[in-house]
Amino acid sequence: MFDLAGEVALVTGGAKGIGKGIAKALKQAGAKVIIGDIDKEKGEMTANELDGDFYYLDVINKEQVQYVVQSICEKYGKLSILCSNAGIFPQVTIENMTEEDWDKVQNINVKGAFLVIQATLKHMKKQNYGRIVLTSSITGDITGYPGWAHYGASKAAQLGFMRTAALEYAKYGITINAIQPGNILTDGLIEAGEEYMNKMKSVIPVNVLGKPEDIGYTAVFLASREAGFITGQRIVVDGGQILPETPDF
Ligand code: NAD
Repeated sequence: MFDLAGEVALVTGGAKGIGKGIAKALKQAGAKVIIGDIDKEKGEMTANELDGDFYYLDVINKEQVQYVVQSICEKYGKLSILCSNAGIFPQVTIENMTEEDWDKVQNINVKGAFLVIQATLKHMKKQNYGRIVLTSSITGDITGYPGWAHYGASKAAQLGFMRTAALEYAKYGITINAIQPGNILTDGLIEAGEEYMNKMKSVIPVNVLGKPEDIGYTAVFLASREAGFITGQRIVVDGGQILPETPDF
């Protein structure tokens, strides 16, 4: 594992699922982990488990975002890692999609990520150091999933934002990269039932669904000092799902 001792990390949407997997991996690597989430109960539980801290945080509330980032910097003296992970993925076909469906997904996934990254960059620039890792998705610019057109659009938007942000802040010792998970076993998949989970698994060459920690270990690498020469990039973590099929030889 890369050593994150002395680093202070904020994970948005870290109460459960992939965010929790990221938080666990960061803690395992030695970082102080702060969970920012709208789920107070699970957020506090996760923070306690990891000997970390919890802040109630709705990523689309600009004042709250600024307050949380400022408070972390004051309490811990810095904020060196941000994992912008909070996101939603309600399923609805284009035919049935309302403007509200569209706006809600763009707001949380795109504007929310923008607000948290913007507030964090202000502090990282002063520190002349920072690591930002966005949780995007293979739905963004590689695959499509019926029922998730608005979600795919939001995940592609995150990547476009990430690339320019990386360029604007490279000279301040700040890197910004994205992870594109494939099918990861979180509540959404579990609630959809076994048949659905098996379908999701059947398209993965390594023949298992991803675990939240799989995304966490990738985040640890991108958040490490050793990854300082990587910025504006994306890493697909999907068990081989996006590889084109080849015939058996
Ligand atoms: P999840 O629903 O299990 O967890 C999401 C977390 O985000 C929850 O704790 C929730 O309370 C929090 N959250 C939601 N809205 C928020 C807001 N406005 N402000 C702060 N926190 C908020 O979902 P997950 O599967 O762990 O997904 C996490 C991220 O990973 C999302 O960005 C998602 O798009 C992405 N992703 C997931 C998968 C997958 O297979 N699960 C695949 C690709 C990408």
